[in-house]
Amino acid sequence: VVLLYHRVADLAVDPWGLAVSPSHFIEHLDVLRRHTRPMQARGLARALRADAIAPNAIAVTFDDGYRDLATTVQPLLARADVPATAFVVSGALDSDREFWWDELERAVLNATNQLPTLRIRVAGEDYAWDMAGGHGTGLQGSSQSPEATRWRIHGEIWTLLRGLDIDARSDAIDQIVGWAGISTVPRTTHATLRAAELAQLEDSLVEVGAHSATHPSLAMLARDRQRQEIDAGRNRLMAVVGHRVESFAYPFGRPADYTPDTAMLVRAAGFTSAFINAPLASEPGMDPFAIPRAYVPDVDGDGLHRLLLKLAG
Ligand SMILES: [Zn+2]
Repeated sequence: VVLLYHRVADLAVDPWGLAVSPSHFIEHLDVLRRHTRPMQARGLARALRADAIAPNAIAVTFDDGYRDLATTVQPLLARADVPATAFVVSGALDSDREFWWDELERAVLNATNQLPTLRIRVAGEDYAWDMAGGHGTGLQGSSQSPEATRWRIHGEIWTLLRGLDIDARSDAIDQIVGWAGISTVPRTTHATLRAAELAQLEDSLVEVGAHSATHPSLAMLARDRQRQEIDAGRNRLMAVVGHRVESFAYPFGRPADYTPDTAMLVRAAGFTSAFINAPLASEPGMDPFAIPRAYVPDVDGDGLHRLLLKLAG
């Protein structure tokens, strides 16, 4: 079984449920120590390939490369002696901006002094959202509460941005940040890893795996752009950790986010395994370039134990 986390933090607003609280994570580590055999993703993939996977083998993985990996997660892993794997977006290293989905959350869900209408131009198309309720195309007035409207608009913009390539997306985010009148200096709660911190992680229980350069949905990109994303991510991480990076996790990781071509490019880039997001156990004979990972919600130790039992079927 491979578990999928993103970050360990107490967040007031967390639209995608990316954070597990530190107190819950401490309980998780206790459950993992008592009931499983934790290993890094590359070790688990190797055991799968060799058809020698222990039934209680577990890989704990973290996506994206938030700074709390270094400040919160690593010390807790070390105390519990539980190894893990961090799939890091190389473009986030030493970044002076938050991830685009965090800036979007900050601008749309957290800012309070936005103008009533958000207008942006994306790849030659005009979009507008009325925070008071109407939809951009003017088709519907709305009986939604302001809070519900805000969340709906946040979801719509997220879906739009997720399908864009890096330049169009950065441009759109800049327009949204400007509209909301918020700073682009990362909040301490949402900062990303420094390269130096990543190098230290790799030295202490944590395998560094790749997660592309800019976190696109690879399936939506042309083959050459996919290759650039995969190779650039790998090269940057190898330069930081000083050796080969073996494991890859597809950004977003759902079936719509990678294709057989994507898997082939990942293999050609020298990775030995790749991970998807799906609530399934890993079993011998599985495609090593589509190993499922189960998302872990912010539940207590009992909740995690129940999830493990369910995955074990
Ligand atoms: Zn990710």
